[in-house]
Amino acid sequence: MTSMEIGDIAAELGLPVDRVWGWGLSTSSGSAISKPTSVDEVARILTWASEHGVPVAFRGSGCSYGDASQNEGGIVLDATAFARIKSFDIDSGLLVAEPGVTLEQIWRRSVPMGWWPPVVSGTMYPTLGGLLSMNVHGKNNWQVGTIGSWVRSFRLLTVTSGELLCSPEENADLFYAAIGGFGMLGCFTEVTLQLKKIYSGCLDVEAIATPDLQHMISFFDTEKDNWDYLVGWVDCFPRGKRLGRGLVHAARYLAEGEDENPRESMSVDAQDLPMHLLGVVPKAVMWRFLKPFMNNFGMRAINAAKYHSGVFSQTRGRPHRQSHAAFAFLLDYVPDWKKAYGKGGLIQYQTFVPRERAHEVHPQLIALCHDAGMVPYLGVYKRHRPDSFLMTHAVDGFSFAMDFKVTAANRERLWQLTHRLDGVLADAGGRLYFAKDATMLAETAGRIWPAEVLGRFKALKERYDPDGLLQTNLSRRVFPEFTDGTAG
Ligand SMILES: Cc1cc2nc3c(=O)[nH]c(=O)nc-3n(C[C@H](O)[C@H](O)[C@H](O)COP(=O)(O)OP(=O)(O)OC[C@H]3O[C@@H](n4cnc5c(N)ncnc54)[C@H](O)[C@@H]3O)c2cc1C
Repeated sequence: MTSMEIGDIAAELGLPVDRVWGWGLSTSSGSAISKPTSVDEVARILTWASEHGVPVAFRGSGCSYGDASQNEGGIVLDATAFARIKSFDIDSGLLVAEPGVTLEQIWRRSVPMGWWPPVVSGTMYPTLGGLLSMNVHGKNNWQVGTIGSWVRSFRLLTVTSGELLCSPEENADLFYAAIGGFGMLGCFTEVTLQLKKIYSGCLDVEAIATPDLQHMISFFDTEKDNWDYLVGWVDCFPRGKRLGRGLVHAARYLAEGEDENPRESMSVDAQDLPMHLLGVVPKAVMWRFLKPFMNNFGMRAINAAKYHSGVFSQTRGRPHRQSHAAFAFLLDYVPDWKKAYGKGGLIQYQTFVPRERAHEVHPQLIALCHDAGMVPYLGVYKRHRPDSFLMTHAVDGFSFAMDFKVTAANRERLWQLTHRLDGVLADAGGRLYFAKDATMLAETAGRIWPAEVLGRFKALKERYDPDGLLQTNLSRRVFPEFTDGTAG
């Protein structure tokens, strides 16, 4: 690592020094922040950093919950201003864009023309660079794969070999490793993405209550061929027979002709999330109303109320229409809701477990949280399928994401709890997800990813970044062996 002080790095490059936070506000670090707007500017920073042995991390919108786009003491290269849509073909649905373009920019441009991003995260703010680096999945992962399955090609600016065009045909090893490669192999500078044709701005949605986690898992398995999207909300508070009770939201696209007025439903106005909740409360202040409830007592009550009102208002067999944006970006309804967690923020712990083990492992994880006295305030369940990307998190099975409040008093115990959960997960052949991670230990990663996979990734790292210039707090924590050739 460089011996240069962060202030000297910033002064030499004419950059500001700032604190960069993980989305969950539970981790942060100080860095010199560069905001390039072109490939040349990215190349200039990489060349300077290489000459001076200063580590560089790429960053998009900072929507990763933990430290995936932080770089303590080094340079953070924030791509959010490198964000033009270069072209969009209305006939083929092919989009060519710079890495800082967000999902929001994409759908605002594409929906009125009858196209929707085929894979979206639960928030519309991530950038293409971030989406590819984490190879994100949507609520339709078992149907359509991760976002990588829809990337036709990209340009990657590498440290050793300049800008390379990568696709399943050209530089294929880099294509399958940089997607999901958490920013370790180069900077995405241009992405060509295939969007999905839609015939309406709406989905048909049904809500179904499931009395425990076993019912939710069975529902996903028996119903998965009937729906395009499935997502389960889990109340993690009850134990015993009601453990893992929840609500499933199932949705399907409308076929051509099913929507009588597609022009109207595909307008941007029809997709926009409301500015007020319940018609009166400005969304921007909603998180302040949530704050008093962000404790065990309040969240137990809110989860129970949500479950019982869900049982009461189930719509099994009676679909209602919901806009794509409203269904996909539910978590954007209350801006800054993470602030309701208070000073310590939150972590999300998302586990991916093979189908045949999920029945036993996921209830066990909830039980371990109860035993430790730290119950997740939010649980989300999804169905997945494996893919061909080297460092993939996806398995033929289920993921369960659990949100935990972090406080000064519980932080150490919470980290220890996640390490106990890691052990159960690794024994079950499960995976963790870098986009959500803040706690994984290097030894856990060594158990989770096969040695052969890690060896192939390291070989690419040595070819395209032999000095380990590209680093993040996450990479140093989880995969120190990828960067121990270490810059400087
Ligand atoms: C409310 C919420 C809901 C979410 N829901 C989902 C979900 O449903 N499914 C899912 O899969 N994820 C989900 N996520 C996670 C999110 O989609 C990922 O963390 C995504 O990577 C964030 O993109 P970003 O632009 O914010 O990138 P950042 O978080 O800033 O960075 C993510 C990674 O990308 C790298 N990177 C960024 N730009 C570049 C570039 N130009 N070149 C190379 N590497 C780069 C960074 O180094 C880092 O490793 C959710 C996050 C939030 C906050």
